[in-house]
Amino acid sequence: MDPPVKVLKFGGSSLREGEDLSHVARLIHERDEALLLVVSALNGVTDKILDVLPKAEKDEDAITPFLEATRRQHDAALNHAAPDDEKAPQELDQLFQKLERVLYGIAYTEQRTPKTRDLAVSFGERFSARLVAAALRNQGTPAVGLDADDIGIITDGTYGVATARMGPTGENLRETLEPLIEADTTPVVTGYFGRDDDGHVTTFGRGGSDYSAAVIARSLGANAVEVWKDVDGFLTADPERIHTARPLPYMTYDEAAELAYLGARVLHPRTVEPLHEGTIPILVKNTMNPQAPGTRIGPPRDEPEHLRAIGAREGFAIVRMQGSGMAYTPGVGKEVFAVLGDAGINVVNMAASQASFALLIDEEDANKAAALIQDAEIPTVEAVTVQRGFSLICFVGENIGKHEGVAGQVFSVVGDAGVNVDMISVGASEIALAFVVHDEDVEDALTALHEAFLEKAPKREVQA
Ligand code: ASP
Ligand code: MG
Repeated sequence: MDPPVKVLKFGGSSLREGEDLSHVARLIHERDEALLLVVSALNGVTDKILDVLPKAEKDEDAITPFLEATRRQHDAALNHAAPDDEKAPQELDQLFQKLERVLYGIAYTEQRTPKTRDLAVSFGERFSARLVAAALRNQGTPAVGLDADDIGIITDGTYGVATARMGPTGENLRETLEPLIEADTTPVVTGYFGRDDDGHVTTFGRGGSDYSAAVIARSLGANAVEVWKDVDGFLTADPERIHTARPLPYMTYDEAAELAYLGARVLHPRTVEPLHEGTIPILVKNTMNPQAPGTRIGPPRDEPEHLRAIGAREGFAIVRMQGSGMAYTPGVGKEVFAVLGDAGINVVNMAASQASFALLIDEEDANKAAALIQDAEIPTVEAVTVQRGFSLICFVGENIGKHEGVAGQVFSVVGDAGVNVDMISVGASEIALAFVVHDEDVEDALTALHEAFLEKAPKREVQA
């Protein structure tokens, strides 16, 4: 659109209390350009709503104390950030009434469904959008709080893990949002959810407001998405584990998604999905340290091959099938994947040898997976075992999977650190080199790898 808009997303960690709202409003007031805000619920509110649902189902007496406490929390923030606002208190009244009805519905029917859950949990964002808009108005920025279902973010209807349908969403958002932006009003839109074709509220999964921001940015052809957090951006490693971790000025969409998937709590892994085919960059910024450059995430650049960052994720089990004829029997893998796929069990990594086939699976799902494989009586599978306590370590960098030499260097460093590698998947992805170690070896492996490859910025790293 013309003039181009920037989409700024503020998460719960940047929205704790009234002073945070005022701080955000000041940041926005200083900027002289067309902006659109996407907000998460105030810090902790989503968890509290999720927590009250099973209680309400059992006992309606849980509802009033919850609503009163939640209202007090929002009123306190509003009184600090926009004490004289005339609109927000009425908006909150209406929203709290609706949430009350949803909760009593759950209590009376003694039933919680994915549908009522998604609807109830969307209220955290509905409340905060009104508060943030009021805070903006209080600093002199015309602003309006808007609900994603109202303005037409359309989803595929999958409760809890919905995907946006970009076609209809784009059409709707251009119609509902562009006139506001052109009239110099800053839309403050709820993150986290949309509605399906039948109007049912569907959420994008925990932390999904980042994804909402990307969906909106793509729909409006924004010139950037800024994700405002409580950290300086992506680092070369988790700073809680590696003290010498460095901030990364730039990384590619794929690298960011891979690290996010591995548990870097910087960005929701799906944020890059809507942006991937375009050129809209994501800028990760720190609300508490706005001067810091942050990390710029965009399409690949013409860079020399490099190792960008390292991540680790715990909580995996190896489910191993053994049988002497396995390697010679076609179709074993296919049957195994069919059985697990039907049960919704995700295989994170795999390795095959002559007489065994090993799968890396979330620890929670491992026993179920082993039982399903056993029950399926797949020919040549003689024994199924489960081993727990594994972590996935992943080296991320554009094109590293293409170079045999990189893997060799990485595994020699890990070996020198005395760490045994249990499963390797090289070449599955061009940007990731993943392997599995015992939980107790993660620290040693990360430290050795970071020291060998990431301690110093590569000389030719392109600056953002
Ligand atoms: N409020 C939701 C959550 O806590 C969505 C978000 O924060 O992005 O998961
Ligand atoms: Mg949140």
